[in-house]
Order: sequence, then C-alpha cells, then structure tokens
Amino acid sequence: MRLFGTNGIRGKIREDFKPDFLAKIGLAIGTYLSPGSWVIIGSDTRVSGNMVKSAVISGLLATGVNVIDIGIAPTPAIQLYTKNHGDFGIAITASHNPPEFNGVKCIAPDGTELPRNEEEKIEEIFFSSRFRLVSWKDVGRYTIAHGANEEYIEAVLSHVNVEKIRERKFTVVIDCANGASCFTSPYLLEKLGCRVISLNCQPDGTFPGHESEPKPQNLGDLMALVKDVRADLGVAHDGDADRAIFVDENGRFIHGDKTLTLVAREIAKKNGGKFVTPVSTSMAFEEVVKKYGGEVIYTRVGAPIVARRMIEEHAIFGGEENGGLIFPEHQYCRDGAMALAKILEIMAESGKKLSTLINELPSYYQGKISVKCDNSKKAAVLEKLKEKLKNERINTMDGVKIMHEDWWVLIRPSGTEPIYRIYAEAKSEEKLHEIMEKYRKMLEKIIKDIS
Ligand code: MG
Repeated sequence: MRLFGTNGIRGKIREDFKPDFLAKIGLAIGTYLSPGSWVIIGSDTRVSGNMVKSAVISGLLATGVNVIDIGIAPTPAIQLYTKNHGDFGIAITASHNPPEFNGVKCIAPDGTELPRNEEEKIEEIFFSSRFRLVSWKDVGRYTIAHGANEEYIEAVLSHVNVEKIRERKFTVVIDCANGASCFTSPYLLEKLGCRVISLNCQPDGTFPGHESEPKPQNLGDLMALVKDVRADLGVAHDGDADRAIFVDENGRFIHGDKTLTLVAREIAKKNGGKFVTPVSTSMAFEEVVKKYGGEVIYTRVGAPIVARRMIEEHAIFGGEENGGLIFPEHQYCRDGAMALAKILEIMAESGKKLSTLINELPSYYQGKISVKCDNSKKAAVLEKLKEKLKNERINTMDGVKIMHEDWWVLIRPSGTEPIYRIYAEAKSEEKLHEIMEKYRKMLEKIIKDIS
C-alpha cells in the first residue's frame, strides 16, 4: 500500500482528508523522526490549510517532536527555511490541483523533496500504526516564526545581479493565482526596481481568478493585460509557486520548455558544465547546451529525480518543461521566484526583449496526448512496446523513447492516472502529426491486444 504519490500525499477534503487521517500522518512522520527534532511547517492559501496543518501538527507534537509554523509561504520558501533552520519540513499544499484538494509534502533536512526510500519508512509506520506516543511532559513544543518569506526573498536577490535589473526599471504584470506567491513575488519585483502590476494577488483559497495551473487557457487576463499596459513581461505562478510561466511583451504565452532552454543557454554560455533534465524535454535544450560546451544528463520524469541527480553530478542547472527550474547555487528544488529573477537578469544583461530572446532559440514542434490504459495493464504494455521497438534506437529509462536525428517520441505510463502519455517533437508540423498518429495507433493496438 502507498500513502505518498509522485508529489506528496494528496487528497480531497472531507473524502480523503479528515482530521483523524491527517493526525495519523503527523503521528507517522513524528515517529519516523527523533524526539526533539524541529519540524518546519507552512501552507499555501487553500481554505483547508489551517484544518489540515493543525491536524498534522497535533500528531507531530504527540510524538515529542517540535514544530515551527511559518504560516503561508511558497513551497520553495518552506524548503529554504527547512534547510536553514529545521531538521525536517512539511508543506501543506496541493500545488495546482483544484481548491477542494490539499496535500502533505515532506521535505528532507537539506531542503530537497524527501526521497522515495524515506517515504517508505513513514508509510510503514503509518500502516502498522506503531506510533511513539510520548508522556504529557515530553509533548513537543510549538512556535510561530515570522519572516520566512522575507528570508526567501533575500536569498533569491543574493543570486542575481540586482543593480543591473534595477537599472532597467521593468514593468512586470504578475499573476499569483491567489496562491502563496502573493506574499513573495510582488515584493521581490519591487526590490528589483520593477513597476509591479498585480493580478490575482490577494490570497484566496477559493481561487476566484482562475484555476491555479499556469496554462494558456487560465492566463487570458494576464496575456491581455501585459499587452494593454505595454509591460516588459508577464509572469504566472502555480498555487504553491514552485513554478513560473512567462508571457512576452506582446502578450504571447511562452511554453515552459522555452524558458528552461533560454536559462540553460545563458548559464552554459558563462560556465559550460553539467545540465540535468528529464527525457521528455525538448531537443532544443541539448542543442543550446552542447553549443556552448555543456553536457546534458537525462533522467526519468519528476522534479525530485532531477534534483537528486543534480546533487550527484554537481550539475550547474536543471529543470523540467513545465516551468520548474532548479538553481543549485540557491537550492535543489524547483523555484518560481528564482526563475522569475533569473529571466529578468537575462533580459537586463542582454538588453533584449523577451520575445527576441525566445525567438533566438531553436524551434521544434511538440505534441503531448494521452491514451487510456488500466493501471493493471501498464507493465505488460510497456514490455510489449519494448519488444516491438527493439530494433529502433530507443532509451528505456522512463517508458520508451524512440530517438532520431530530427524527431523523437516518448511513450510512458502516467504514475498517477490510468493513462499512457505520448510526447513527441519534430522539426515540421507534418512530421509531428505523422509520428504522433503512428505511435498512438501502435499503442492503442497493444493495449487492446492485452486483455
Ligand atoms: Mg507546484
């Protein structure tokens, strides 16, 4: 049995997340830790934030661990505070999920997401209900700490050329999706000398502005406003602000892989070095990194996997196509505010508009579709795929990736939903369409044949 999904423990309020269940999570985490440990806990802006947090805290304290509550903060701010001040961290967040959901995400002492083998130890305690209940006098202490968001903003500022950015007096429209970044990114921009125009920057767990996933259909207001006020750029975060998605000065949505590639190019130009990204990332990434003498290391899909590999390889930069960028000089996790500050620095140092910078990057056509597949069939389907494609140049690190000079296709089972995903990239739209169709049909036939 599993408690943790790919991104912590997620659940729907009232159905999955009830006080007794949440307190048990707190008891399991507390039992896993040594008595007297200090646990940092913070949440996003969800309506259920205090309900979930209080129940988890109750369980923690009952096992004799201490809790420092930092209030509402972006996930990367909770991670940084854990690295600086705690023995463990917990973020109460469901990232971009709908408002009726919430989640419990565990953070290792170094600020990274807790690795799977450690999660398993917590799961074992949870399912066995072998909790360490301490006597009345050993119950943990609880304190509230102020200033975590300010400390986070200062840390981000310490990693960019503040003077250079301030000189440009950028106009930036920021859409916080009524999430945790309401307390950080507008103030970060202010410190970077920007004229800040805010959108959905009042914290509100009902998410009145739009759904908190920063995808084009949710960012219509941002795109229109950027154009209207002639801003230099627009930026949107997801609910817990570990990701940042940008809009150029023409109000055009920029896909996350473009931003990732742009930042990689600028870092490679200055340093060379090792760059880590999942197998689902655009070929453009490798193209620019190699051009400037860097090396690309591929991993399975998932930010914690990328972050771990970055630590092992002493990588200089890494990230995913969804706007999750990891800057090791800051911390080994996705960081929306750091991505924002870095993009402004690149614009300031180059003196170029964001659209110009993006247009300089190699351009490919990309597609992503999903095909229904029962979880029980997934493994057999994967075996069959590998068998069928064994004469192609393939990479089986995560699903099956078929690689050619100017196109690739990645077919992989989703870790969370009963579907297979097909990702593809090609130099022309026709080629993209052709390969997506070909492999969709192949996959559907294999799924049908396995009964
Ligand atoms: Mg997130």
